[in-house]
Amino acid sequence: MKHLLLLGGGHAHVEVLRQIGANPLPGWRVTLLTREAQSPYSGMLPGVMAGLYRPEQALIDMAALCARCGVALLLDRATGIDPQRRLVRRAAGGDIAWDLLSIDTGATPETDRTPGAAEHALPLKPIDALLPRLGALAACRSIAVVGGGAAGFEVALALHRRAAVTLVAGGSGLLPGFPTKLRQRAARALAARGVALREGQDVVEVTAGRLHFAAGPPLEAEALVWATGAAAAPWLAETGLARDEKGFLRLDACLRAVGHDAIFAAGDVVSFPGGLPKAGVFAVRQGPVLAANLRAVAMGVAPRPHVPQRDYLRLLSLSDGRALGTRNGFVFGGRWVWWLKDRIDRRFMARYQR
Ligand SMILES: Cc1cc2nc3c(=O)[nH]c(=O)nc-3n(C[C@H](O)[C@H](O)[C@H](O)COP(=O)(O)OP(=O)(O)OC[C@H]3O[C@@H](n4cnc5c(N)ncnc54)[C@H](O)[C@@H]3O)c2cc1C
Repeated sequence: MKHLLLLGGGHAHVEVLRQIGANPLPGWRVTLLTREAQSPYSGMLPGVMAGLYRPEQALIDMAALCARCGVALLLDRATGIDPQRRLVRRAAGGDIAWDLLSIDTGATPETDRTPGAAEHALPLKPIDALLPRLGALAACRSIAVVGGGAAGFEVALALHRRAAVTLVAGGSGLLPGFPTKLRQRAARALAARGVALREGQDVVEVTAGRLHFAAGPPLEAEALVWATGAAAAPWLAETGLARDEKGFLRLDACLRAVGHDAIFAAGDVVSFPGGLPKAGVFAVRQGPVLAANLRAVAMGVAPRPHVPQRDYLRLLSLSDGRALGTRNGFVFGGRWVWWLKDRIDRRFMARYQR
C-alpha cells in the first residue's frame, strides 16, 4: 500500500477526508497528522464569542470524521518536512514516511513584528488555544482588539456586550480592502454599540495591559486581543520548499509545491500564483480541487489547475442578528445577511460533523 499523508486538519483537508470517505483510494492508505482533536471553524468563532453558538457547534471532531472516512488519525505537531527522503518530522519524535503529501496547516498570528505582542496579547490563532481562554476574556471589563480586518472587527463587536471594547485598526484603518460604503457602515455599527475605534497609528510595542503608539499616550485595557494579519509558521523555513518573501509555500496552478510533484498544499499556508487573500473561503474552495488532484496523482493521472474566483462573498457578523456583506462591489446589510451567513456556516459544518 502507498501512503498519502494529510498534514493539518484545515478547511481544505476536511473536504479531502470527506471525499476519500465517499470514494476510497484503491491501493492507498491515508493518515491525517494534525495538532487538534477538534478542528475549529473560524467563520463561527465570533458567534461563539458573542454567545450565539455553543463552542462545539464551531468544532469538527476529527477522530469521528477520520473514523467515518477510513483515515488513520495521528494527533501531533509536524516540525519539519524532508521532501527528498519523503519524511515528515513529528514533535513527539520519529518520522513518518509518505508517497504523497498534502499540507493544510494554516497560518500563525503576526506577533513577531511588534515587541511584546507574543507575551502580552492573546492571539486569535491557534483557535484551540483561544477557546479555553474565552471564559477569562468574558470576565474582563475592558478589552482592546488590535487589527482592523474582518476578524478584528467581528471579534470587537462580539465582545462589546461584556466589556468596554476599543478596536485598534492601526495605520491601514478599518476593514482595508473593503468597499468604502461597507467601511462607513461598519464604522457606524461600532459607534452605535459604543465600541471605540482608534485608527491612524500602528501599535509599536505591547506591555502588560498596554498598547504603545509612536506618538500619544498608551492605551490601557485589562485584556489585549491580537487580530492582525497572518504569518507563515517558522518551521516551514527549514523544509527547503520554495517560499515567497513572507515565508508561505509557493505553489503551481495545480496546488503543487513548486518543484515537487508529490507535495500539494492549500489554504492560508500557501502563496498561490497571482496572490490570494488569507481567507477561509479560499481554503474551502480549494478543498474539492485538492481532493481531485490528490486522487489524480495517486492514480497516475495529471492534476488540473485551480482557478480561484475573482471576487467572493464577504460577510461580517454584527453579533446582533444582523450582518454586513459585499460582493462584486455591492454592499448590503441587515437581518437577512446574518440569516445567509448563519445558513452558509451551518451547512459547511453539517457536512463534516455528521
Ligand atoms: C476570528 C476569525 C474569524 C474569521 N472569519 C472568517 C470568515 O468569516 N471568512 C473567511 O473566509 N475567513 C475567516 N477567517 C480566516 C480563516 O480563519 C482562515 O483563512 C482559515 O482558517 C484558513 O484555513 P486553513 O485550512 O488554511 O487553515 P486552518 O483553518 O488554520 O487549519 C490549520 C490546521 O492545521 C493544524 N496545524 C497547524 N500547524 C500544524 C502542525 N505543525 N502540525 C500539525 N497540524 C498543524 C491546525 O491545528 C489546524 O487544524 C477568520 C479568522 C479568524 C481568526
